[in-house]
Amino acid sequence: MDSEKDLIDAFENLVHRDFPNPERVGCPGREVLAQLARLPSDIEPSHLLAHVRKCASCFDELKDLRKSRASIEVNSKPGDTRSQG
Ligand SMILES: [Zn+2]
Repeated sequence: MDSEKDLIDAFENLVHRDFPNPERVGCPGREVLAQLARLPSDIEPSHLLAHVRKCASCFDELKDLRKSRASIEVNSKPGDTRSQG
């Protein structure tokens, strides 16, 4: 099941079509987006999310930041038991 990803893809297309925002009007900046990417989704500040939903540039940036964060977490898993046996 990849329906969540399909949903995000569909939303991404819509944002790019309706809110390309190439001049980055009203953007919070990469630092703020990086902080947002580190937050659990239940405490993400709604005013930032409201902007990201209407700004393809920030949407892409946030997606990128989340992706790199996920790969960092995968590479450093704590419970590695290969030394046993
Ligand atoms: Zn923006």
